[in-house]
Amino acid sequence: MSDRLPGFSTLAVHAGAQPDPTTGARATPIYQTTSFVFNDADHAASLFGLQAFGNIYTRIGNPTNAVLEERVAALEGGTAALAVASGHAAQVVVLQQLLQPGDEFIAARKLYGGSINQFTHAFKSFGWNVVWADTDDIASFERAVTPRTKAIFIESIANPGGSITDIEAVSTVARKAGVPLIVDNTLASPYLIRPIDHGADIVVHSLTKFLGGHGNSIGGIIVDAGTFDWSTGGKYPMLSEPRPEYHGIKLQETFGNFAFAIACRVLGLRDLGPALSPFNAFMILTGIETLPLRMQRHCDNAKAVAEFLAGHPAVASVSYAGLASDKYNQLARKYAPKGAGAVFTFSLKGGYDAGVSLVSKLQLFSHLANVGDTRSLVIHPASTTHSQLDDAAKIKSGAGPDVVRLSIGIEDKEDLIADLEQALGT
Ligand SMILES: *Cc1c(COP(=O)(O)O)cnc(C)c1O
Repeated sequence: MSDRLPGFSTLAVHAGAQPDPTTGARATPIYQTTSFVFNDADHAASLFGLQAFGNIYTRIGNPTNAVLEERVAALEGGTAALAVASGHAAQVVVLQQLLQPGDEFIAARKLYGGSINQFTHAFKSFGWNVVWADTDDIASFERAVTPRTKAIFIESIANPGGSITDIEAVSTVARKAGVPLIVDNTLASPYLIRPIDHGADIVVHSLTKFLGGHGNSIGGIIVDAGTFDWSTGGKYPMLSEPRPEYHGIKLQETFGNFAFAIACRVLGLRDLGPALSPFNAFMILTGIETLPLRMQRHCDNAKAVAEFLAGHPAVASVSYAGLASDKYNQLARKYAPKGAGAVFTFSLKGGYDAGVSLVSKLQLFSHLANVGDTRSLVIHPASTTHSQLDDAAKIKSGAGPDVVRLSIGIEDKEDLIADLEQALGT
């Protein structure tokens, strides 16, 4: 091997994987086992005491999942990662390490609808209080900071409208407040945006979407950038204080720049339990091998479809950052020069009824609640993913009654445009 650092596409295929030492299997095997035999009693004790790394029980770690973790950490430029059962599980595990009951975190208002629900309702019952801010007004993040703020949470490309967040500007606010910046990078994938390069301390993903990419497996992952100093001011006791679960070990002191990933595994995943099935890890790993090819095609198709819609008489507006006229186009050029993603919204002159009618007439597009599939998908957020919000909150989060969301797949773009054309009824 030369000294060259491998490029993104090479890492997508190889990072974390080696031929299986026992069998020579070239694809990563599915280690479909719950538990792993110890060498001897000392080995068992050192694994349980965190003095040695190794496999114990699949709820805590598994060799198939470990390949996935190393691969995504490499693609995102982090120090370590932890795979979990879903994107939502990743969010719970991350915040459990950071917040005590009564603490606050600041979140962008433009978010995946499921995250808005999780933050507003489920997290409230844990005593974790979300304070909303607006990515179009960075000062609103600064105004939201209080002594109880423990983290800031944003999406790189935000659901459902595909707007681009100024990650560096929010990172500056987080630095000043002395709290970590968490970026949900699901809609961009590391192929389009690597948030750690722009100041993120923690990256989370729903692997269910573009990383897995084929609409067949639910999964999530947490990537530790290794950049945050958890020892300051006793603000993060899970990381800086002696842990009774592990004979008084201090995680930051012991594990340095991957202490956060360790905390998520040994305090979060171990005790909360949302483990990823090794079978799903295998499916998602296979998906990641083609991420660069798929993602480019997704973006190129999305741009063509957005341009078609922008010129259509039944369409009131298209919100796609890849269009030169879009208000997020400058940010897209800076943060996502290869493409502005493949999830975006448009609004119909005919309002709510036209949205419902369009969804029912489309044939190639599947009407369902997902994004980031090889197949093109459509949904009417106001009547589905964002239906729990009141009208004002719907509009604020980009899901007004006239809005339709598309997730553009990797089919032939001419076929996608023809399907939209017939459904719009020209
Ligand atoms: C789907 C999604 C999630 C939640 O992930 P699950 O795997 O469905 O739990 C979180 N954030 C974004 C941006 C998503 O699209």
